[in-house]
Amino acid sequence: MEYLSSKKSVGVWNSISNTKKSLGNLGIEIHDLFGINIKSGNNALFWYDHWIGDNSLKSKYPNLFELESQKRCRVADRVGSRNHKWKWKVRPATRGLESEVNDLNRDVSNVQLKSGMDQWRCNLSSDGIFSVATVRQLVDKLHTVCSVAPAITWNKFIPIKVICLMWRAAQLRIPTATALERRGIAVSSTLCCSCIGSPECADHVLINCPFAHKIRSYIWSWCGLTNVQDSIKTISDLIQFASNWGENIKKRQRFIVICYGMLCNLWRFRNKRLFQMEGISVHRGLECIKVMTFYWIKHRGDKKICSWEDWAISSFYDL
Ligand SMILES: [Zn+2]
Repeated sequence: MEYLSSKKSVGVWNSISNTKKSLGNLGIEIHDLFGINIKSGNNALFWYDHWIGDNSLKSKYPNLFELESQKRCRVADRVGSRNHKWKWKVRPATRGLESEVNDLNRDVSNVQLKSGMDQWRCNLSSDGIFSVATVRQLVDKLHTVCSVAPAITWNKFIPIKVICLMWRAAQLRIPTATALERRGIAVSSTLCCSCIGSPECADHVLINCPFAHKIRSYIWSWCGLTNVQDSIKTISDLIQFASNWGENIKKRQRFIVICYGMLCNLWRFRNKRLFQMEGISVHRGLECIKVMTFYWIKHRGDKKICSWEDWAISSFYDL
């Protein structure tokens, strides 16, 4: 199927290939729906098909897949003899790659090939038989509005891409280390790159990490929330808290902008730390949040906002 979708096709194959793309747009990988019972190993693709474990070996070992010289080889081309028949473009010589080869060898070491055709089974049904109805049920299940998702505020001062990011974050759908690992993607560490003390999930990075906690307490005091008991544990908690905060609607709207600005910046800082090796101090982090939220309010509608100097002292200086 993966091979088909990369080729130009017509007629029924074109429809099948388009179905894969349409399901992909809904977050459903068609390969994830099927498993294979291996017999001769002559029908299943070693790297692409889900014939061992929960994912394809291509996703589990992306580095080794890059080194494979025949990417569409069959299972029988690679396993079934005492020494697995690897055909690398370049020998995996580094220590990391050698250990991946060892893991891969261990994964396939117990595979016994026998006569007969490999058999596909649908993972959605107990009898393994595919039906359109089971796929439809899956689509409905995944795309019914999540009952635990908080009431996201559509505020004109907040860019839509930030609102979308927060909507996904509240449902733990942003690509943190633990989320990637859950999807079978190899990550070097699942620990938070800031505190190195807890698994990195969305709620940890944006709410519970000591760095996020410190930033939040400074933001609270900048907003004048001095006597607030901070019992916020999840992104949903914070979004709910902001959308119900205070009596003054104008102030509440501004507080929501600040909370979204804080969360999206915490995600930005995490990405800078992880991908650009750039550490951000709490002081610098606060400055970034103040600048970004001032810019949003001033340039996305409220021209009468106070001066930057006054804003830096109090977020409600002019209200
Ligand atoms: Zn942390």
